[in-house]
Amino acid sequence: MMTSSKNLFSRAKKIIPSGINSPVRYYDPYPFFVKKAKGSTLWDVDGRHYLDYCNAYGALLLGHGRKEIISDVKRQLGKGTLYCAPTEIEVDLSELISGNFPSMEKVRLVNTGSEATMTSIRLARGFTKKKKIVKFEGCYHGAHDYVLVKAGSGAAHIGMSVSEGSLDEVSKNTLVVQYNNSQQLQSLLEKEDDIAAVIVEPVLANMGLVLPAKNFLNDLRKITSEKNIVLIFDEVVTGFRMSSGGAQKYFSIQPDITTLGKALGNGFPIAAVGGKSEIMDMLSPEGKVYQASTYAGNPISVSAGIASVKTMNKLQSKLYPKLEKNCTKLVSAIHDLASDLKIPHQINSISSMFQIFFTDEPVVDYSSAKKADMVKFKKLFEILLKNEIFIAPSQFETVFLSYAHSKDDVKKTISGYEKALKAVKS
Ligand SMILES: *Cc1c(COP(=O)(O)O)cnc(C)c1O
Repeated sequence: MMTSSKNLFSRAKKIIPSGINSPVRYYDPYPFFVKKAKGSTLWDVDGRHYLDYCNAYGALLLGHGRKEIISDVKRQLGKGTLYCAPTEIEVDLSELISGNFPSMEKVRLVNTGSEATMTSIRLARGFTKKKKIVKFEGCYHGAHDYVLVKAGSGAAHIGMSVSEGSLDEVSKNTLVVQYNNSQQLQSLLEKEDDIAAVIVEPVLANMGLVLPAKNFLNDLRKITSEKNIVLIFDEVVTGFRMSSGGAQKYFSIQPDITTLGKALGNGFPIAAVGGKSEIMDMLSPEGKVYQASTYAGNPISVSAGIASVKTMNKLQSKLYPKLEKNCTKLVSAIHDLASDLKIPHQINSISSMFQIFFTDEPVVDYSSAKKADMVKFKKLFEILLKNEIFIAPSQFETVFLSYAHSKDDVKKTISGYEKALKAVKS
C-alpha cells in the first residue's frame, strides 16, 4: 500500500482507537501524518510541508530540533538512557528551575503535565488536610479525574463536561468557577470550608486564549492566602513561554505550587512540580504524600530540560522580544484583514500566543468563548492548512509561535490568513 496520510490513517484506525494517540490530533477527514520536522516546519508523508503554529501545543518554544538540545541529548544517549538511581544532572536541572522560578523552592521532576498537576493537588490535600479543590471552567490541567471537569482543550472541543469512567465521588470534589470571576470564588468560599486548593492557568491557553482580567490573579492570591488554601499555578503552557520565569514573573504573583511541562523539555517528555519547601517536603519517603515514577528524572529528558532552560536563558534578551514582535505583527495584520472584510471577530493575544474568535463579544471565559462561530473557525483551519499553515485544529486551542519562525514565515502566514479569512467571509 502506498504511504499516504489517508492510507496510514485507515491502518491506524484498525489498531489505534480513533487512529490517534491523543484526541486533539484528530480532525476531519483525517490528519496528515508527519515525516519529519525542523525549525518552524513540518513535512508530511504526502510530500507537503507546513509552517508549524501548533508547535506541539506550545512545547516547542525554540522550534523543532534546536541544535543545543539535540547535541546534549545525543551525548547523553551514549551514557545510558535510564538508571532509576540519582544523577547530578537532576540536581542541576532542579536548581536551574528554581533559579528561574524562585517560588519553586523545591522541585520534583515528573514526565507529563498531567502527572505534575495530579501531584500538586494531592500535595495540597495532604498539606491542608482538606478535601475539595476549585478549578475554573475551561481550564485544562491534564487528563486525570481530579481535573477533568468542565475542562478546556479536547474535552471542550467535543463538548464533554465530565468523562465517562470518571468517578462521581472524585468529580464532585472538584468545584468549578468561571474564569475571571473572583467574586464567584469568594462567594463559593463563604459556603465551603473544605477547600484544599485553587488551581488555575494564569493565562488560559486551553479555551482558545483567554487573558486574566486585571486583578483576577491578584484576587486569587489574596483570597487563597486569607483562607489557608494552596494556590496552584498550572504553568505547563506559560512556564518559560511568557517569560523566563513564566506567568508568575510576568504578573509578579507568587503561587504556592507551580506545575511546569511543555516548554521545559522543548520536545522531550519532562515536567515538574515545585513550590514552598514546607509543602514539597510532604512528599514521600520523608513525607506522607506519595508520588513516584519509573521514568521521572530520566537522563535523556533531564539533559533535554537542562539544554532547553540554558538555551532559553542564554537567548532571553532576544527570545522574548522576537516572539512578542512576531506575534504582535501577526495579530495586527490578521485583525486588519478581518476588519477590512467586515468579519466580526476578537483576537486575544499575549507574548507568543494568540487566537481568533468569530464573535462580536469579548472572549473572557468559557461561555463567551463558546459563543464564537465554530463553523467559521473550521473553515479558517482548513484553508490555512491548504496554504501550508498548521494551527491546532480547534477553536479551543491556541496559536503558538516559536523562536524558529522567521520574518518570511510571518509574511507567509499573514498571506495564508488573508486567503483563509476571505474563505471564511464567503
Ligand atoms: C498540556 C497541559 C497539561 C497536561 O500536560 P500533559 O503533558 O499533556 O499531561 C496540563 N496543564 C496545562 C495548562 C496544559 O496545557
